[in-house]
Amino acid sequence: MNHRSNFRILIGVVVVAILFAPLVLGNFTVSLMNDIGIGALVALGLVLLTGVGGATSFGQAAFVGIAAYATAWLTTAQGMSPWIGLLFALLLTGLSALAIGMLTLRLGGHFLPLSTIAWGLSIAMLFGNVDALGRHTGLSNIPALKIAGWSLVDPRAIYYLIWFIVGLAILFSYNLLASRPGRAIRSLRGGATLLASVGADAYRVRLTLFVLAALFAALAGWLYAHMNRFVSPAPFDVRASIEYLLMAVSGGLGQLAGALVGSGLVLVLKNALQDVLPMLTQRAGQLEAITFAALFILLVHFARGGLMGFLRKMTHGRFAAPRSDEKLAAPVEPLPHRKLPARGTRILSVNGAVKRFGGLVAVNEVSFDVNAGEIIGLIGPNGAGKSTMFNLLTCTLPMTAGQVRFLDRDIAGMPQREVARLGLARTFQHVKLRPQMSLLDNVALGAHSRTKAGVLKAGLRLDRTEERQILQEAKRQLDRIGLGDRAHELAGSLPLGTQRILEIARALAADPVLLVLDEPAAGLRRKEKMALGDLLRKLREEGVTILIVEHDMDFVMKLVDRLVVMNFGSKLVEGVPSAVRADERVQAAYLGSVV
Ligand code: ADP
Ligand code: MG
Repeated sequence: MNHRSNFRILIGVVVVAILFAPLVLGNFTVSLMNDIGIGALVALGLVLLTGVGGATSFGQAAFVGIAAYATAWLTTAQGMSPWIGLLFALLLTGLSALAIGMLTLRLGGHFLPLSTIAWGLSIAMLFGNVDALGRHTGLSNIPALKIAGWSLVDPRAIYYLIWFIVGLAILFSYNLLASRPGRAIRSLRGGATLLASVGADAYRVRLTLFVLAALFAALAGWLYAHMNRFVSPAPFDVRASIEYLLMAVSGGLGQLAGALVGSGLVLVLKNALQDVLPMLTQRAGQLEAITFAALFILLVHFARGGLMGFLRKMTHGRFAAPRSDEKLAAPVEPLPHRKLPARGTRILSVNGAVKRFGGLVAVNEVSFDVNAGEIIGLIGPNGAGKSTMFNLLTCTLPMTAGQVRFLDRDIAGMPQREVARLGLARTFQHVKLRPQMSLLDNVALGAHSRTKAGVLKAGLRLDRTEERQILQEAKRQLDRIGLGDRAHELAGSLPLGTQRILEIARALAADPVLLVLDEPAAGLRRKEKMALGDLLRKLREEGVTILIVEHDMDFVMKLVDRLVVMNFGSKLVEGVPSAVRADERVQAAYLGSVV
């Protein structure tokens, strides 16, 4: 039996167990299961936001609270239907997340988690101080939910609604992660420069993810309010936020199922502690908090993958989720190509480029042109300013002075992602790949700017055609660089030299007009270098223009049509390889090394 049917059977068993559980379980356990489902919704948002996206939030309970209070107020004070309450809760929570996200998501490092504590505290405080929200007594007499006249006041009835929503949320997230916006989300940890290089805006991706996580929390808050029919500030304070985070971490931040498992783990443990601790001490509440804090620290230090990570290791991937094979096989129109400029047209022109770092002039009045269909080499000794020049013309760094025109547009000062969208694709001297993503997914990320599907479309699986187009394009580029048969391996498993080549495939997936490569031959063996040379020549024949920064003279000399030599930040010489090789100034710059 293959892994794929194992996965299906496992899912089937879990679904059947959830369906029949209320028929055999006692009231107390059914209520506990309801709490677990609600907790899992919040934890699911955190698995996406923190586990996948790398942004830690200590304020998620506040979003649960906003939604719970929103629907509580609307249904009690205004007498509206809980279903209007749901819309209102989602809207208010979404808007709050948008506002908070816009204020805080640009903060780097530890400031973001700290700020989440701040707004988590203040929102919870707000609930306790507004008269209309009942201050510390909260709001009661919230109506139970009704579906077509059928009341969900019984825990066994709302159970099915809760778990139906949990199921939908997991399915949505699962679809999302295997999609265009999902690949961008999974690349967030690779940094803003990586995303900008494929034409994506890391800030917007993070903001969308933040709002999505808040909306999952909002669903939880709405269910909570109508299940308990009473809200007060305490369940939405920072302590509750930490509990949700603990669910996500203990279940496993790396996997969607971790949210379910973690919610179960934390709530069952909490229940057990509430039974046991009062027998040991008068201060059970404090001891519970200490136990959870200790558990949190232990997990972070010794079991980062959480329970799901552990289970995965134990089962050796026998329950791995299905791969995208059928998406690769299904016939579909290829993604449309850009019209490439006619051979010989000037596509890039750098004019008097200057870059100062404080007193140091890293690039000093450098000018050169690149014409369609040629391979140009940018060479020079270490520290000559090549990488800086590279960053200027890809708009990764702002220029101090000078001009860069690309396809007749002044691009100096343009955001990097816009330049990428115009058709300038790059690789990195220090490889930026997502090691935990497959080769195929890494390359597919490159096609980001050629495609459109957003979070909603992807989560609802309305992106199938485009998704097939993207994956098939990625597969073609992998075939082109000779890695097609390893499409499903993880990028992190490749040797460094091969990872560089993989970056070229990602750049090609953007259908570029100009390909800029920073030291692609570094770390390659002789045969691999020859293959890379062949690949680049083949690309030139197909009309792709290439600018290559390289140290390996032999490699560059045999490959390029023209060379620009830099030294101490200035352009030293420009010309065909043979002329440059013979130039005394170049030989002097390289201190007698064989050029
Ligand atoms: P190359 O790629 O040719 O080896 P670089 O462009 O990396 O050279 O560096 C050119 C000069 O600029 C070096 O002296 C380097 O120390 C300096 N430099 C590069 N980046 C920075 C930076 N971000 N801040 C300060 N100095 C820098
Ligand atoms: Mg360099």
